[in-house]
Amino acid sequence: MTRPPFGKSERAPIERPIRVAVVGAAGRMGQLLSAAIEEAHDLELAFAVERNLAPLGEEARAEGEPPTRLEHAAPEELDAVIEFTTARAVPAIAREVERLGVAWVSGTTGLDEEGKAALAAAGRVAPVLSSPNFSLGIAVLRRLLERAARLLPEGWELEIVESHHGAKVDAPSGTALVLADQWVQRRPLDSGRSGSQVHGRSGRVGPRPAGEVGIHAVRLPEGAGEHRLLLGGRGESLELIHRAHDRSAFAHGALEALRWLTAQPPRLSIRWTTGRSKSG
Ligand code: NAD
Repeated sequence: MTRPPFGKSERAPIERPIRVAVVGAAGRMGQLLSAAIEEAHDLELAFAVERNLAPLGEEARAEGEPPTRLEHAAPEELDAVIEFTTARAVPAIAREVERLGVAWVSGTTGLDEEGKAALAAAGRVAPVLSSPNFSLGIAVLRRLLERAARLLPEGWELEIVESHHGAKVDAPSGTALVLADQWVQRRPLDSGRSGSQVHGRSGRVGPRPAGEVGIHAVRLPEGAGEHRLLLGGRGESLELIHRAHDRSAFAHGALEALRWLTAQPPRLSIRWTTGRSKSG
């Protein structure tokens, strides 16, 4: 029999479960997170917040179901918010987190400057963690890339191919941007290396400048996500590939992050890119 990944029976009893609001509860990630929280012995689904349910109001909620509006939450009835929505939703959610002063795990990608500023503002009054990828495998991939950047001599170059489902609204993926940025940060940019990023190539782009990182976004009907790092040097190449077989990889990592975050002081921890990029 397959055990649920967050089985209640696997852990010792705890004093009080962490009361969690899932924001984006009807989404692909939100549904997985809600189910995993209901399974976990140390977590409680206190709020299931969803834009699509909001106009219905609290009175439309079935008996025994968690409340659907974050605005109705009082600070004393919640310990954490876990949010996988859209970049546009982030500033309003940040204001609620600031009011509540509870831990916030944000997995939303494609953040604009307003969204990043909103996360930073919330991070001044609450522990906030934002990452475009909560899978354990990607955390290890980042370390491997960091080592590769240190070990491989000048002349080695990086290209990234990421593949996701066609409903993904941002491209390239936030994870690809972080990986590209990480490579550029670790490589010396002397001897005329550009350190720029180019998103796809088409037309008469000319010879590839040394140090340029090309990022290529593939979209297919299905698939949780793949990141393929292609490293090339003189006479040889190396590939590092991470595949998320399903979204439980992100849900598991995000809930582990949430457990850790609820014990942290107010602070914003980010896993975003700071790199130079251009579209092509
Ligand atoms: P989805 O479209 O299936 O779900 C998003 C849900 O959020 C929808 O149900 C939508 O109605 C809801 N929503 C939007 N605005 C809202 C608001 N203001 N209040 C409440 N609910 C709101 O998308 P998804 O596949 O679940 O992904 C969501 C986000 O998470 C995307 O940005 C995606 O790129 C990102 N993501 C991140 C990771 C990671 O590990 N960090 C993993 C997977 C997906």
